[in-house]
Formats: sequence, structure tokens, C-alpha cells
Amino acid sequence: MEKIGKRFQGKVVIVTASTQGIGFAIAQRLGLEGASLVISSRKQKNVDEAVEKLKARGIEVLGMVCHVSDAQQRKNLVDKTVQKYGKIDVVVSNAAANPSTATILESKESVLDKLWEVNVKTAILLLQDASPHLTKGSSVIFISSIGGYNPASSMAMYGVTKTALLGLTKALATELAPNTRVNCVAPGFVPTHFADFITKNETMRKTIEGSTLLNRLGTTDDMAAATAFLASDDASYITGETLVVAGGVPSRL
Ligand code: NAP
Repeated sequence: MEKIGKRFQGKVVIVTASTQGIGFAIAQRLGLEGASLVISSRKQKNVDEAVEKLKARGIEVLGMVCHVSDAQQRKNLVDKTVQKYGKIDVVVSNAAANPSTATILESKESVLDKLWEVNVKTAILLLQDASPHLTKGSSVIFISSIGGYNPASSMAMYGVTKTALLGLTKALATELAPNTRVNCVAPGFVPTHFADFITKNETMRKTIEGSTLLNRLGTTDDMAAATAFLASDDASYITGETLVVAGGVPSRL
């Protein structure tokens, strides 16, 4: 981790839902590689704590509250970024909700709406605000999931929204070419707060570990490294692609 390059020197990076877990690890990785960061999440306390941690590592960072479903807060996120740093080079769209374990046919309409809204629609709306400020050579990364390929029964509709991000990646790669590349990372299981209900259950954790070729869960740093690659100029001829980072778990639509 300490032997990393400086691929994001002079770059301005927005990562949504970035005060813990995968989003925080992505922000930290890009920050350590020289980026000026804009981090956010729903709770001010979480924002303040994450900003302190990043600053303690010498990273330039602006933090603010942004619930991705709040239009004013999304606009504020983009406006404050441009006011402070003058441009946007990378947007990592990482926020997601998984409010229910109901099957698809038993899901309430409010749950279906929330899944679509947080996991797909807000990613589009944020980019509508951000796209006028994206620089030539900029990059957008969506965070999907291995569940987008094989929706597990306990999180099936969540998985379907993550499948939608694979299509969104293709469609927006076309729409934003040639100035902006659009790619996607599909994580396997990573022990974060979000995945607690699965990874803290010993039997389930062992089953998941056994389903990977590498016999382990993923780490937030695994996801950060893949995201940093796709967002960087090392991936300058890659757009419209999804990189599955899931230890070899089968991924085929
Ligand atoms: P996490 O550790 O629970 O972190 C979630 C982060 O998002 C927190 O910083 C939280 O802070 C913020 N947040 C939650 N809802 C938000 C909202 N509506 N608007 C803005 N910020 C919000 O979750 P994670 O596991 O890192 O998940 C991150 C992404 O990875 C998600 O897209 C998820 O679908 C994907 N993913 C995760 C796994 C896994 O196994 N962990 C696997 C595949 C894909 P506040 O509480 O302050 O808002």
C-alpha cells in the first residue's frame, strides 16, 4: 500500500458514499496517489471523522454531507467541488442501498423505488450535474457488484439494480466519449458494514470463501486498487467495461 504511484497528482476526484468501507478505501487510495478529494455521505459526523483520517495521511480533502437522493445536496457537492478546485477529473459513483431481503415478487413498491432510486437513478442525476465540469481525459467509475451477474435470492432486486449499472456503463461510455471514459467495478463479497449480515455469519462466510478461487473474501483495498487503475491514465484505452474483482467467482450474464 505504501509503494503506490502518484497517478492522480493534480486531479480532482469526487467519490460518493465515501466515509467508510469501499468508498473510503477508494478515496484514500486516490488521495495517496495525489488526488484532491471530495468525500461525502449522509452523516456530518462520519464526514468529519473521514476527513480527519485522510488529512492525517497528508491528503488534500474537502468533505460535505451529500445524501445521494437529495437533489440540493448533489448540486451542492458539484458546485463546492468546482468552486474549490475548478474542475472534475474523476467521479466514483459508489452509493447503494439494500433495504430488504424480500424476494422480488414480495418486495413492496416503496422498496423497488428506493433500490432503483439510490442504486441507479441518483448516479445518473449526479452525472447530469457533474458532466459540464468533466475535463478532457476524465473518468467515471460505477460500483456494481458480483450480484449484478448472479443475483442472490436474499438480495435479488438489489442485484438487478447492479445489473443495470453494467448497461449504464456501456450507454454512458458512448454518450461521454471521447472526452470521458466510463467504466465499472463489480466487487465480490467484502466485509464492510453493508455486508455484515452475510460476512459476519460464520457459515455463510465460509461458503462464500469456498466459492472463490482464491479462498478468501475481498478487501476494500482490492476494490480501491481496481478502481484506481480504471480511473487512471493506465486505463486510457479502456471504456465501457466492467472489471469483476471477486476472487474468481463466476461472472457471466
Ligand atoms: P459500507 O461500508 O456500509 O459504506 C457505505 C458508505 O455509504 C458509508 O460511508 C455511508 O455513510 C454511505 N452512504 C450510505 N447510504 C448513502 C446515501 N444514500 N448517500 C450517500 N452516502 C451514503 O458499504 P460498502 O460495502 O463499502 O458498499 C459500497 C458499495 O460497494 C455499494 O455500492 C455496494 O453495493 C457495493 N458492493 C459492496 C459489496 C460488499 O460485499 N461490501 C459487494 C459488492 C458491491 P453514511 O451512513 O454517513 O451515509
